[in-house]
Amino acid sequence: MVTNSNESSQQTESLNLLTSTQSVIKEALSKLGYQESMYELLKEPLRVLTVRIPVRMDNGEVKVFTGYRAQHNDAVGPTKGGIRFHPEVTEEEVKALSIWMSLKAGIVDLPYGGGKGGIICDPREMSFPELERLSRGYVRAISQVVGPTKDIPAPDVFTNSQIMAWMMDEYSCIREFDSPGFITGKPIALGGSHGRETATAKGVTICIREAAKKRGFELNGARVVVQGFGNAGAYLSKFMHDAGAKVVGISDAYGALYDPNGLDIDYLLDRRDSFGTVTKLFSNTITNKELLESECDILVPAAIENQITAQNAPHIKAAIVVEAANGPTTLEATKILTERGILLVPDVLASAGGVTVSYFEWVQNNQGYYWSEEEVEEKLEKVMVRSFENVYTTSQTRRVNMRLAAYMVGARKMAEASRFRGWV
Ligand code: NAD
Repeated sequence: MVTNSNESSQQTESLNLLTSTQSVIKEALSKLGYQESMYELLKEPLRVLTVRIPVRMDNGEVKVFTGYRAQHNDAVGPTKGGIRFHPEVTEEEVKALSIWMSLKAGIVDLPYGGGKGGIICDPREMSFPELERLSRGYVRAISQVVGPTKDIPAPDVFTNSQIMAWMMDEYSCIREFDSPGFITGKPIALGGSHGRETATAKGVTICIREAAKKRGFELNGARVVVQGFGNAGAYLSKFMHDAGAKVVGISDAYGALYDPNGLDIDYLLDRRDSFGTVTKLFSNTITNKELLESECDILVPAAIENQITAQNAPHIKAAIVVEAANGPTTLEATKILTERGILLVPDVLASAGGVTVSYFEWVQNNQGYYWSEEEVEEKLEKVMVRSFENVYTTSQTRRVNMRLAAYMVGARKMAEASRFRGWV
């Protein structure tokens, strides 16, 4: 019973995610002067493949998993986006995430459309050999629709470089030649790129720095609160700390820590586990709800969806909110924050550093020529600064909030490419 009601609430949440994304796309296209037919094309992915993957489990039984691959729009170039392993994956969520990937690619001006994949499973309860068989089975199931010039996967929630390595090996076996450009987020030894692991947090850091400049303050000494201490939140806390900011609050799924004098970030990084949990070690915790409303200059939601809502948006104290997580702020809350003069840097811009360095990895694989970490960082810096400025200027000149401005910038190229191809 509990599982069923959880499943249906997850489905409702995923559907809300999709419909709210569609409503902003509609508004963005209308502001750009496109007809309804363009919205009809872009409101859903061009293709969604559902696959069933039989996997022999360690106890000898066969378990059949369900997976998805959505390809939103390939007018600009091949589609690109991560593969998520999670018990709560739904088709609607994968669709919404593929649309966000198209927008991100448009914002940072990559020659891609958006894609996304997911498998309904709980990797925390599976052995390594079971995960390997599932990863290889998924690639066999989707092999006809993916490839270095068609659709290029990457890691996402609960998938990592080892899983990318198995998938790349399986695809190379099917095609009978080495295909590093089939997937990104690989280990360096298999053609991965320097700087990929920290790319999302680096991109968020650049957006925070640029946003602070617009609000007339420096990162040095600024008080920062980061919700979530996983891949994105932990690296980000470290980069903020290194830039001289005072990280006064962090959290995980179990609670939050707040100290107005600044937290010992190096100690917390050292003690966190691989799932981004650290607050269980402390007794003086506060709740995530309290953390979001605490005193700070910069607030970074870097955990899960729907954290800033119409209920808590009036109580947020930060001058700047930068969304490292996907979908942490509802549309109602976006409106409230904007009306209150808080600068909100939306997810599709702030977290685009990951796909940017994934693109760099694919370029290096295609060329067979590899770059140093400094080269990657220098290129990422240029892309993120240019993209931030582009979205900010659009929001100022068109008098729209940063989310709508980001959607306008993100949708423009794929709409133009679709029109030139004669699709609309
Ligand atoms: P992660 O799984 O490594 O970490 C998630 C963190 O959030 C953990 O500290 C966890 O304890 C915490 N958390 C989970 N549920 C929570 C809750 N209910 N309340 C408070 N905290 C909670 O994930 P990640 O890779 O850091 O991703 C975080 C967000 O950033 C996601 O929305 C993801 O889609 C987005 N994102 C990540 C990347 C990336 O490269 N890692 C790229 C783009 C977007």
